[in-house]
Amino acid sequence: MQAIGFRQHGQLEQIELLELPQPEPGSGEVLLAIKAAALNRLDLWVLAGWPGLQLELPHIMGSDGAGVVAAVGSDVSDFAIGDRVVVNPTVSCGHCAYCRSGRDQMCDQFAIFGEHLPGFYAEYQTVPARNLLRLPADFPFITAAAASLVYVTAWHSLIERGRLRAGEDVLIVGAAGGVNSASIQIARLAGAGTIYVVGSSEAKLAQARQLGADVTINRQDEDWGRAVYRLTGKQGVDLVVDNVGAASYMRSLRALKKGGRLLTVGNTSGPTFELDNRYIFARHLEVIGSTMGPCASYEKVMGLVFSGRLNPVIDTVYPLSEGQTAIRRLADGEVAGKIVITPTSFLATGRRHDK
Ligand code: ZN
Repeated sequence: MQAIGFRQHGQLEQIELLELPQPEPGSGEVLLAIKAAALNRLDLWVLAGWPGLQLELPHIMGSDGAGVVAAVGSDVSDFAIGDRVVVNPTVSCGHCAYCRSGRDQMCDQFAIFGEHLPGFYAEYQTVPARNLLRLPADFPFITAAAASLVYVTAWHSLIERGRLRAGEDVLIVGAAGGVNSASIQIARLAGAGTIYVVGSSEAKLAQARQLGADVTINRQDEDWGRAVYRLTGKQGVDLVVDNVGAASYMRSLRALKKGGRLLTVGNTSGPTFELDNRYIFARHLEVIGSTMGPCASYEKVMGLVFSGRLNPVIDTVYPLSEGQTAIRRLADGEVAGKIVITPTSFLATGRRHDK
């Protein structure tokens, strides 16, 4: 079967179209014929690698997958060949204290497809049956795959860790990117007061307004920290979503009201930076980190996706054979929504518009 991945860590040049044997489902697993797989910035971190990341090589990339059950292993009774499903991108042991208390995202054996495990830029992949969620009839594979990782991440951060309540003002630093787009939609759905979004281009900010942002600030035109201060009558906002890190953190802290919360699930501009601690204690601030989310949150947020109340923006769908081009587009950063890869055989069946 064909797959997109790499034989050694490094730059984009390492990514290749691989020819690999089709995997076979073990006990408790199904074989999934992949119909759609969505790209995430995580792909680029995994490609570069980090100390301690021990992958079996060649590594198949891709954390978000949806498809059709093509075979079932032993001890699988809930799913049958032909079932249309989407995959919860996270795996945990299922029996430790964290897993038993519904905090499986904190499990010591926590893993993500495409990060620690082989991913979904392939024609087939094996998946534990307990990771599968059945798609409603005719629900598009592409939408399901595009939603998985970013919506569970944004939902867990804003609603569960961040305790966002109706009427609270939210600032999202970054107009593009899957998690930021999902955060705008989730904040709107949760009844946030004013939603402010900082971005670097008019096109991205226009899209943010379409998704539910009330006030957008172009950081090319003005100091966005000052703009937020002015726009909130020198009060600041209740909650800031900052997944940028080094380049924005101090401004984000200053943009908070007394008692405000800063939420973070990542740091695209770099992980190490200085903080003025006086802002945190003297203004009673909270900095709240999380990554991904528990199974229960995944099912909850995907229910909102299935019902159309949350709807991922799709930028482009590429055939699997053009996976390298797709990942290059992601790395270039000029993307307005999710990039999705789909096996060529699926495109050739005439269901190209099954978004
Ligand atoms: Zn566990």
